[in-house]
Amino acid sequence: MTYLDLIIDLFKNTPRQGPGSTAESLQALALMDLPNEALTIADIGCGSGNATLTLAQNTQSKITAVDLFPEFLDQLKINADKVGLIDQIKTLEASMDQLPFEKNTFDVIWSEGAIYNIGFKKGTKQWRKFLKPKGYLAVSEITWTTNDRPKELNDFWNEAYPEIDTAANKIKVLEENGYRLVGYFYLKPESWIKNYYEPLALEFDAFLQKHDHSEDAKAIVKEQREEIELYKNYQDYYSYGFYVAQKIIKTPS
Ligand code: SAM
Repeated sequence: MTYLDLIIDLFKNTPRQGPGSTAESLQALALMDLPNEALTIADIGCGSGNATLTLAQNTQSKITAVDLFPEFLDQLKINADKVGLIDQIKTLEASMDQLPFEKNTFDVIWSEGAIYNIGFKKGTKQWRKFLKPKGYLAVSEITWTTNDRPKELNDFWNEAYPEIDTAANKIKVLEENGYRLVGYFYLKPESWIKNYYEPLALEFDAFLQKHDHSEDAKAIVKEQREEIELYKNYQDYYSYGFYVAQKIIKTPS
């Protein structure tokens, strides 16, 4: 198994693949003034579909759930089937930087904890054309919550994701690229710890056993444990910002 296959294997059974909560997905959804008709939604980097299912349950919509890895999409289909929502959801195995959509397709483009794979600036710019005029973009993205921070933390995140920034600068990117901000908020600590890190940590022992404590499996668990420790130590300085923005009709196209 490659390193990537191992990572997928660790994450595919967790309830979600990144921080968040149903309440916060609904909080973001509530910021939108959506037409009272059947909506078309794309959930990009959907993982096993936690947010996809929340959207399906709480909107009259057809959702295209996109992920690069079929293992997550298969799990999403199982989860959707269990709760009777499969008819609303179509899965699509594709890379978020090469999406096969027509222009002006979606009322809403959703992406929780995934846009970093393409980069916030590139993603928000590239995906805009797939939104209908006045369509909404809802993305959560790692964000500094203060202007200053300890060096260890700064170094870690700048190495892991150089586009990490303050909300003010993230909002500026949206404003410079044809969106108007409708609202934003930070994810709560429990959305990191209770909803994401604790269920993930519960998988570590079984994962190591399943893979015979291989060097790669141990390295993956070590990396995850370090990220959890970092968050526990420095949670005052960063979170995911949840940004909801509307496509403005004028420039750029
Ligand atoms: N949205 C889910 C959630 O909140 O639980 C998953 C978030 S997880 C941190 C990031 C997701 O992006 C993973 O499911 C991963 O497979 C997917 N991903 C990574 N690179 C991608 C790409 N180039 N195109 C589409 N999806 C990608």
